[in-house]
Amino acid sequence: MEIITDPPRSALVVTPHPDDAEGGCGATMAKWIKETGTEVVVLMCTNGDKGTSDREMSPGELAEIREQEQRNASASLGVKDVVFLRHPDGTLEDNRQFRGEVVREIRRHRPELIFCIDPYRIKNHTHRDHRMSGQVALDAAYSYAWSYHHFPEQLTQEGLQPHMAKEAYLWGTEDADVFIDVTGYLEMKADSLSHHVSQMRRRSPEQRLERVESGSARQGEKAALAYAEGFRRIRFDLGSLDWRFLYS
Ligand SMILES: [Zn+2]
Repeated sequence: MEIITDPPRSALVVTPHPDDAEGGCGATMAKWIKETGTEVVVLMCTNGDKGTSDREMSPGELAEIREQEQRNASASLGVKDVVFLRHPDGTLEDNRQFRGEVVREIRRHRPELIFCIDPYRIKNHTHRDHRMSGQVALDAAYSYAWSYHHFPEQLTQEGLQPHMAKEAYLWGTEDADVFIDVTGYLEMKADSLSHHVSQMRRRSPEQRLERVESGSARQGEKAALAYAEGFRRIRFDLGSLDWRFLYS
């Protein structure tokens, strides 16, 4: 177990649906952006167009609404940019196209750290898009983005360079081993969730803050902190390959 006190300079948050990233690492984003100027980019994989119980709402309308909600939520945290891949909700596949899209954003934004959902939960099932986005994010970072020979057209035609992120932090994990003290940032997290108006009708803002507080207190207990966000850390150590030259 480790409490992280040394934030990265940059982070890419690979997330399946509007509102997942705020729930997963919203307070950490807020803290790092505010306190150390970490540059955070959100990569939104789907358009969330199935996330409603309202039969009258068309998927196209919902997608538009949720994209704006995501922009508002990310802006409230100080996120530098949101990139929308706009896959239809529920259709993420671990295929070459999706891997290439994530690789492209890793090469464009060159993050030190990647946030994504833990795709390997045992006891609690999770949405298929959550598993797909988590797995593809890890594979894109670990297996592909650093190699000149994977997706070479991104280098020759788009002017990108290979990039190796140092590590990934996985939210929604059953096995958190790194923790960030988010005391003082719970209101910002709850507020960022409130921007997802189409998804947050069941609770009042006060109830949302209470929920954020109780969740953060539960994570905090594992690290003797009042409030924390916890993640499973994966270090991208490629062993004998000298990848340091990739940092430019
Ligand atoms: Zn989701």
